[in-house]
Amino acid sequence: MLPKSLDCIAARVRVRLPRICEKAGENGRIVPSIGYVCGGCVAVAQQQRRDLHEELRAEPLGEMPPNFDTATFDRYALKFSIHFLDALSPENRDRVIGSNPMFVIPEAFSLLIKEQILQHVPDHYMTTVQFEGHDRLFSSGEFRFFKPVPAKVILRALRKSKLIEAE
Ligand SMILES: [Zn+2]
Repeated sequence: MLPKSLDCIAARVRVRLPRICEKAGENGRIVPSIGYVCGGCVAVAQQQRRDLHEELRAEPLGEMPPNFDTATFDRYALKFSIHFLDALSPENRDRVIGSNPMFVIPEAFSLLIKEQILQHVPDHYMTTVQFEGHDRLFSSGEFRFFKPVPAKVILRALRKSKLIEAE
């Protein structure tokens, strides 16, 4: 395993920076988390997002990898958000919109879900990356797991944050 300082550098390298599509020209669009891109890039990204949502919707919520890394945790938080939002009654959906209209967007809601879960994941599993310089324009910081987090740790965190029922 990498020492912590090296892992932080590795984590920074993995950060997806906005890109500029060669075909964007004067008619490009600024898309948060993608960059300045052409209509074709936008269509591809939208289709990939729809495909991922359908894939996650089709998976049982209780299905988890035995161990989580940062990417599988991100994916699980998005799956949790999609299942949670799909299951809301119209009244509860209105309450969610009342607290923050962005939360009906699964990607936005999953940030809240991750924050809730991570409060109950022991510190020795993760590192927090604080961005400096230009990187700060795009992100205020994020976490990385630097060792696999067993599913039981995530399940316990879900229960402690009252996102799932206690046994
Ligand atoms: Zn393009």
